[in-house]
Amino acid sequence: MDTQRRKERVAVLSVVSNTTLVAMKLVVGLMIGSVSIISEAIHSGVDLLAAIIALFSVKTSSIPADSEHPFGHGKIETPAPSKPCLSLWQQSGSSSRQ
Ligand SMILES: [Zn+2]
Repeated sequence: MDTQRRKERVAVLSVVSNTTLVAMKLVVGLMIGSVSIISEAIHSGVDLLAAIIALFSVKTSSIPADSEHPFGHGKIETPAPSKPCLSLWQQSGSSSRQ
């Protein structure tokens, strides 16, 4: 399996696993009325958003060069590290409220 295909499979797996986590945490949190589990669902939602960004960037980066992008589309992967930024932003918000 080539590298691009493996990158895409990992990104899809990340989206699927994060979607499952969000759904399970949200259902359980709402069933038992736990604010902490619901906040965990929101936390996983941010991870899901980052996984979707990663999947988009991995797929887009494989598009071959065209007239508008003569060096290819590899630079689209630059926003992919937004996940740590999103997580840090989220954590700084939650810890500043404690
Ligand atoms: Zn292009």
